[in-house]
Amino acid sequence: MRPTAEHTDARVAWRSAAGSDVGRVRTQNEDAYCADEGLGLFMVADGMGGHAAGEVASRLAVRAATEGLSTLAEGVSLDEARARLRDALCDANRAILVEGRSHPEQAGMGTTATALLLSPRGWYVLGHVGDSRAYLARDGEIRRITEDHTYVQELVDEGRLTEEQARLHPRSSLLTRALGTMAEVDVDTRQGRLAPGDRFLLASDGLTTMLPESRIVEVLRGRREPQELVERLIREANEAGGADNTTAIVVDVVEAPDGREGGG
Ligand code: CA
Repeated sequence: MRPTAEHTDARVAWRSAAGSDVGRVRTQNEDAYCADEGLGLFMVADGMGGHAAGEVASRLAVRAATEGLSTLAEGVSLDEARARLRDALCDANRAILVEGRSHPEQAGMGTTATALLLSPRGWYVLGHVGDSRAYLARDGEIRRITEDHTYVQELVDEGRLTEEQARLHPRSSLLTRALGTMAEVDVDTRQGRLAPGDRFLLASDGLTTMLPESRIVEVLRGRREPQELVERLIREANEAGGADNTTAIVVDVVEAPDGREGGG
């Protein structure tokens, strides 16, 4: 997205809400998240691996990202922020590998990571690995801004499955990329301008496999507060079966109050 003169001097703030639920089938919640309005960092990680290792992996990822980005200077440039976000997720990858080596029962653990960093100067960067998702609602249009790193997404890209068939596929959660499973990980990044009225959703696949995308979009269109949207999405995922852990974060971009910058 190209910055416009109108957006270049935008000063924005944000309001957010986050929630995570174990669902109706699983006994443990292997999702982890961060919603740090002060830092402008919002992240979902969905862990996998036996012996509670998924929980370890997703928490390690959130911690590595939070630590890696907590020292960002206030006036950091978009390019530097994007590099730091990518580095933080690569650090998370290594931390999970190291942990797995020292605890053989956790070998093979991994996690998704979808991390959104917002700047009061009116831009965002997104770092992404796996099949958690980010959506952006802007000017009445809602778009997914992450690509699923899954086997079924490859079939969709080849025209062999529709999105809806992929969602209902028995192997829908088979990942082609995750943190903690390979020595080097390829992190997708994306960036763009922010404007008041923008709304982001970050979610684990517990939400996006339980609800059709059309329903998620419908809920996001509602003129409701982030907290209400998060509660509604998690409730509907559970009503649809709650087969997996569900995590959702909604972030609304608003005009910065006069004389102040930053979120919260
Ligand atoms: Ca999941």
